[in-house]
Order: sequence, then C-alpha cells, then structure tokens
Amino acid sequence: MPNPKNFHIILEKFRELDYTGYSEQYPPFASWNKFNSSPKAVKEAWKESLEGVGEVGLFINVPFCRSKCFFCFLPVVCVGRNEENAREFFKIYFKSLKKEASFFAAAFKKNSFSTVYIGGGSPSMMSPEEVHVFFKILRENFNIEKKAQIIAELHPQDVNRERIEAFLANGLNRSCLGVQSMDERVLTEVKRKQNIHQVKRAYSILKKHGVPVNVDLIVGLPRQSEKSFFSDFSEILPLMPDQIHLNAFICTPYTLYSMLGGKPPDYAKIEKLRLKAFQKLFEIGYKKIDSDSAGITPHSRNFQTTDLWKKKSLLGMGPGAISHAYGKMRYINYMVWKDYFSRLKKGNIPIERWVKMSLRDEMIYYVVERLSNEKNINLEEFRKFFGRDFLKTFFAEWHTLKNSGATLKNGRIYVPPKAWSDIRRAFYSYRTIIRGLKNAKLKSSFLKKFK
Ligand code: SF4
Repeated sequence: MPNPKNFHIILEKFRELDYTGYSEQYPPFASWNKFNSSPKAVKEAWKESLEGVGEVGLFINVPFCRSKCFFCFLPVVCVGRNEENAREFFKIYFKSLKKEASFFAAAFKKNSFSTVYIGGGSPSMMSPEEVHVFFKILRENFNIEKKAQIIAELHPQDVNRERIEAFLANGLNRSCLGVQSMDERVLTEVKRKQNIHQVKRAYSILKKHGVPVNVDLIVGLPRQSEKSFFSDFSEILPLMPDQIHLNAFICTPYTLYSMLGGKPPDYAKIEKLRLKAFQKLFEIGYKKIDSDSAGITPHSRNFQTTDLWKKKSLLGMGPGAISHAYGKMRYINYMVWKDYFSRLKKGNIPIERWVKMSLRDEMIYYVVERLSNEKNINLEEFRKFFGRDFLKTFFAEWHTLKNSGATLKNGRIYVPPKAWSDIRRAFYSYRTIIRGLKNAKLKSSFLKKFK
C-alpha cells in the first residue's frame, strides 16, 4: 500500500482524469474501463439488479448551453444565442433520447422511479413545447411515481412564467437554480452571462409558483475574494433558499479556465471559506444535508444525490449521464454529443466506460460515501444493509483507518475531519489503483516507486 503522501499524488492523477464531478464515489472514475460488453448483457444486468433494489432514480442530462462558463468542466454543447439553432439541436436530442429510453423500457417495466433529476447543461433552455415533448418521452417509456421528486436545473436567465408553468404541468416539484456567484466582476471574469437582477427575478417567479428552490454557489472562483464571496452570501441569505450548495471550484484540465492557462486555486483556502460559510448557515438555522450543502430542513434536498449510500439504482440517460445498476455495474454514456447521438442513430447503446460492481464493491461504495460525508459509519446500519460484520469484512482496512486516527465509539467508526485521502487509501484495492494508473497512461512502475 502506498504511503499517505504518495497515495495523495496518485489521487491527484485520478482527479485529473475525472470529468464526471463524482470523484467522491467508488470506484474512482479513473479506474473505469472502456465499455466492452453487449447491449443484451446490459439489459440482463439491469433486470437482475432491479429485483434486489428498493428504489430507482432517473437522471437525464440535457447537454446544451448558450455559452460555456470558464469554470465548468462538463463537455456541454454550446448552441449560441440563435433560437432556431437551439431548436434544431433539441430535435436531434429528442430523437436520441427516445431511442435510448425505448432501449431500457422493457427492463424497467415492473419498476417505478421515485426521483427524476433533469441536469445539464441547461435543461431550462427547452421551450415550453419542448418541455412537454421531453416529459412525454419519459412517461411513454417509464413509470414515474405519483409522489416522485422531480427536479430540474435552471439557468436564471431562462426562468420565465411560461417555462415554469410547462415544467409544473409535468410534475416539477423542486428546482435547482444555478446562481454560482452574485458578484458581477466574478461573473464577467468567468464569462457567465447573468446578472443579479435576473437571479432575483427568477427566484421570485419560482416562489410565486410555489416551487422550492435549491441554489448553487461556487466557492473559489477567479477574482473572488473572501469579502466578495460573503457579499454574495448577504445577497442570497435573505431569500432563504430551501437548500444551498457550496461547491468548490475544481480547476480540472477540462475547464476553459485551465485550458487558457488559469492557475489552480488554493484548495485549502477554499475549504476554509466553505467551512466559514457553512458555519454562517448553521447559525441562522440551516441543517447540514451533506458535505456540500445545507437545507432549511433535513428534507429540503435533492433525494437523488444525497442518499446515494442507500441500496438504490440510478438510470442515467443523455450524453455523459452516469448509471448505477446496484450490485452489477456503473457506467457512463458517451460524453461528446456527436458520439452519443451517432451511436444511437446506428442503433448502438451509447455507453462509453464502465466498471463492474460486486457486493464487496457496493459495500465499499457505501463506506466511502458515509465516511466522506458523515465522517462516521454506524456498524449496526452496515450489518442491516449487508448482513455482514464491518470489522470482520474490512479487517485490514479498519487497521489502516485506525492508524490514520479513526476511532471506534458506541458502535460507530469516526474518522478525523481531513481523512478524504486516508479513507480512499484504506479502501481502494491494488487492482483499482493499477487500472486507474494505466488509464492515466502511467506505467505500473510509477506505482512501484510509491510502494
Ligand atoms: S456552468 Fe452551467 S451554464 Fe455554465 S457551461 Fe456549465 S452547464 Fe452550462
């Protein structure tokens, strides 16, 4: 096992390969392989997986944006400001989505979705008519529970009465408003076309229609000082959004900022700022939801992304969407728009990379998620979930954690606050690390050096 310092270097390499934004989760994306199975095998795996899970969520990625923000690492499709152009893109998108949905419809016939998350890109670019077409495709192919949580990511500049009414007619019951920053100097620097007036207007339209609003903010953006960040906060807090996400700016090689030579931010400073901001939120009554967000109540949240540790599966559709067939596999669709739609056009499944999931992998997925987010795991809960004793199943891993400062108290294992890397050092298998290093195009001699 690499020592802590060297393992940190390996994690940094893995992070560089991660364009999913899910570097928290196990197995690390860097270790996923090129998809080399058949569509039939995927359908079979889904059928088997669905027999053993309680809940299923549906995630759909709408990849289009009007322009690309410099801090964004997602491979979005910039369609510009020409509305006709956008409509053409959506036509192709709906054709592809229809094909993809029909591919999975039979496997999901007996199941219904308890959450639907529409992410992007900017799903709010859909016209009201397109919103109806979009939901028609979903409902014609899948069962969505009556009480399902349905969330869409909205760009403040797109929010208007007609769009919101179209979303509401289709069951939207929570929104995620991409505010990112209220500082116009910062917004100009990161080329995000938006202003404070649009944010306030969007917020008030959503509230008028009774839609709970989650707000996304980014900490550590270029030109953002501590002072300017807290002045963002003082603009947002009086609105009392249901949930506030405080995402750290991660300067991956996939951001335009990094491509244009921008220097990585000081991550330690960002973390300090985030902690201070969370403290402020707790002082005014917000409750912790997970490591990136706080809510007015523990229920003001996105159930799809905050309860990942539960025994549930997630079907992702659209370019770059990630799926998790519990106990079987995790996979990601082709990220690049052209690859995605041309594969579907030829009748192929649009999966680009995947990783198989054994029961042990699921246990590690659970442990890594709980320890990263909650800083502790309940051993009784683990036993209930998996029918196994944690300390026996992960004997060696527990000792590594203990050597890194973890403690066992009242049936829970607690890890120190900064144990992100140590948790992964304990649980990433040698094979996972080697796969990741190979994908990073580094020879295994790189790892030997760090043994
Ligand atoms: S941050 Fe949002 S609006 Fe900006 S490029 Fe990324 S997905 Fe598009």
